[in-house]
Amino acid sequence: MRVKEIKAKSILRKAKKVDSWFLISYGMNLYRGCAHNCVYCDGRSEGYYVDGEFGHEVTVKINALDILKSELDPTRKKLPLKHYFVGLVGGVGDSYQPLEKKYKLTRRALELFHEKKFPVHILTKSTLVERDIDIIKKINKQNRAIVSFSFSSANDEISSVFEPGVPTPTERLKTLSKFKKEGIACGMYLMPVIPFITDTPEVMENTIKKAKETELDFIVFAGMTLKEGRQKEYFMETLRRNFPYLLPQYENIYLKNKWGETTKEYYESINKTFNLLSKKYKIPRRIPAYLYKDILEENDLAAVILEQLDYLAKLEEKPSPYGYAAYSISKLKEPLSKIKENLRSIKGVGKVTESIIKEILQTGSSRYYENLLK
Ligand code: SF4
Repeated sequence: MRVKEIKAKSILRKAKKVDSWFLISYGMNLYRGCAHNCVYCDGRSEGYYVDGEFGHEVTVKINALDILKSELDPTRKKLPLKHYFVGLVGGVGDSYQPLEKKYKLTRRALELFHEKKFPVHILTKSTLVERDIDIIKKINKQNRAIVSFSFSSANDEISSVFEPGVPTPTERLKTLSKFKKEGIACGMYLMPVIPFITDTPEVMENTIKKAKETELDFIVFAGMTLKEGRQKEYFMETLRRNFPYLLPQYENIYLKNKWGETTKEYYESINKTFNLLSKKYKIPRRIPAYLYKDILEENDLAAVILEQLDYLAKLEEKPSPYGYAAYSISKLKEPLSKIKENLRSIKGVGKVTESIIKEILQTGSSRYYENLLK
């Protein structure tokens, strides 16, 4: 493993709106590159500009804490940052990859978020997160902490082929169980499911069943993208060695789309399977409102719920006006409660959406949304 220490100019990325998949408003990569070296990792694709050989070279932002401290300093900002979720959710490198044992950048960032009173959402594949259970508990008590793990399935044998550098799914579920026992909300990011290997009804059902048994608060689901270039070449090489008979099926669903997406038909079929199984086990398919309704201001709350509603309605193959309404609300300057009598003037808001927004303003959620969620 080659390690490159650098001094970064900035750390915190502020999103234009709250991300409804992860509930985060700020993101960061303390490390670039990831020693976990999952075979499907899209951090490997050229578009992320990660230096060196992915999986064998990691860049460490050694001054990250100094930069973060100044970025979080309210006196340096015209508008202080809202106390919304900060995401330690990877992207181009797991925050708990092995180098974290030595550098403790994630640990020190968490201590800073506790001091500055920010809620956090951690997404990892490493049980090293248990090391920081003390500080995560403190953050959870003061604001909120969510700990999530990503999985391509709960099958240890399949995982050993595609995720050779991380603890087994069984170990990951055990760690989640420990966090749940400490009263911390936990989620599963079932992403990506690997076509024709972990997306079958049997493998998916086993995974969702285990998430339910672990009493996880939600599962967020997605298929696998394979971008042309390094990512696809690396993955296909592993597939050729271990599952050569699947090559023609992959050729049929990955048609060299710019974003590495599969065909619409394939994507719809795995969504259908996920929809049926997650409903069978009554597990929320997005982060539920009880984990964020006391944190977000009213416009952001309504926009997130409507965006999630858009996803859930489409999963049920129902028409959805909610995505457009969510987008319009995220652009509004004035609070929704000030224009309560005039909600229909917002682009995309019709009669049904208007009543959902009114209910959100009154109760912090919507019964229609809550029903669709499980
Ligand atoms: S843990 Fe995440 S960031 Fe690291 S290699 Fe695996 S998928 Fe990529």
